Amino acid sequence: MNATTSFLRLNIEDAEVLKMASSIKLPVCTSCNKPIAPFERAVRFKCPNCGAIVIWRCEKCRKLVNTYTCPNCGFVGP
Ligand SMILES: [Zn+2]
Ligand SMILES: [Zn+2]
Repeated sequence: MNATTSFLRLNIEDAEVLKMASSIKLPVCTSCNKPIAPFERAVRFKCPNCGAIVIWRCEKCRKLVNTYTCPNCGFVGP
């Protein structure tokens, strides 16, 4: 019975997290334009060329070493 109760509680917490995630504007991966989930191992760094833009790279793009283009200065980098 205890196991069932904790399982239900977990589900409620998941729903809360999902609700929060949908209300927060998620960052978008600069390489693939997909929203980055808060629990993803994404990286965020400033453009190495102009420093004015924050580049986001999702876990997938990091693994695939996809290139990104800075929307401000056009710098393309790995
Ligand atoms: Zn990506
Ligand atoms: Zn730049």
